[in-house]
Amino acid sequence: EIKKAGKDAVRFFGADMDAAAGARLHMETRLRAAILEESLTLHYQPQVDALSGHLMGLEALARWTDVELGVVSPSEFIPVAEETGLIVPLGAWALDEACRQAAEWNLRVPVAVNVSPSQLMRAEFPETVQATLRRHGLLPQLLKLEVTERLPVRDPVLAAEQLRRLRALGVQLSLDDFGAVQSAVASLMTLPLQEVKLDRGLLAGVTEDPASWQVLRALLALARGLKIPVIVEGVETEAQLAALRSLGFRTVQGYLMGRPERPDEITQRLRNVGHTVSPG
Ligand code: C2E
Ligand code: MG
Ligand code: MG
Ligand code: MG
Repeated sequence: EIKKAGKDAVRFFGADMDAAAGARLHMETRLRAAILEESLTLHYQPQVDALSGHLMGLEALARWTDVELGVVSPSEFIPVAEETGLIVPLGAWALDEACRQAAEWNLRVPVAVNVSPSQLMRAEFPETVQATLRRHGLLPQLLKLEVTERLPVRDPVLAAEQLRRLRALGVQLSLDDFGAVQSAVASLMTLPLQEVKLDRGLLAGVTEDPASWQVLRALLALARGLKIPVIVEGVETEAQLAALRSLGFRTVQGYLMGRPERPDEITQRLRNVGHTVSPG
């Protein structure tokens, strides 16, 4: 009896799974057809100057109404496209159509196109972008590519190299969904923290690279605004310490101030600074 119920439960669960997989497969089939027939469309959302209201750009967003499925939201079909590789032809179409439309509108502000990580990572992507711009006679500075921070990129070094190649074409690059990844900025707002400890990678260039300086300054301002104390780890040089001091950092940790030491060494240090250490 128990065995039979168990079997039914398995079958029932299995049927549910089949239904979900079937619906997904159906969507994949319909989406593949829609891309082939070029029956997707793009909507454009204005980006405006908050004070003057002037148009600063337009973001192209894919829209799909299927004869069988009805209106399907990008939050449903983009993930399916990502998983099945259909995002590559879909993305190429969106890029082409947005550039065509932008050239036709003859705007002075850029059109922004979303680029999925799997598109970005294709070796030929920069050439595709260049060819698309040429085809429509669109100036590269009038195209902005939005690359999402949401999906993990398997090879960050290659990703950065691809972005450099795109930048060399003259197109603009935008980091989309910044702050959405729970591990980064968002966790500062949602977690009950008494401290945020800045990664030593942020410190590496602080003495030579103005960008590192600005990032540290902004992160300090962000944490202060949220009333979360900040510590910086990995301080190795006097120059780094001086930079951190002038930025306003209060608490630091690193080889410069002291390496990790045995308890007896710490006891000695504490005595040296006049700290009372109880014996034994
Ligand atoms: P959406 O139009 O529903 O698009 C959702 C997401 O699908 C986009 O988020 C983007 O990641 C992806 N997507 C859309 N078209 C393409 C495409 O051609 N290629 C690729 N690779 N991905 C695509 P994203 O880029 O962050 O766009 C902003 C979203 O927020 C859009 O949703 C937009 O309609 C929506 N939105 C804009 N203003 C508001 C607002 O005030 N409130 C709310 N709730 N949503 C807003
Ligand atoms: Mg976007
Ligand atoms: Mg976004
Ligand atoms: Mg640590």
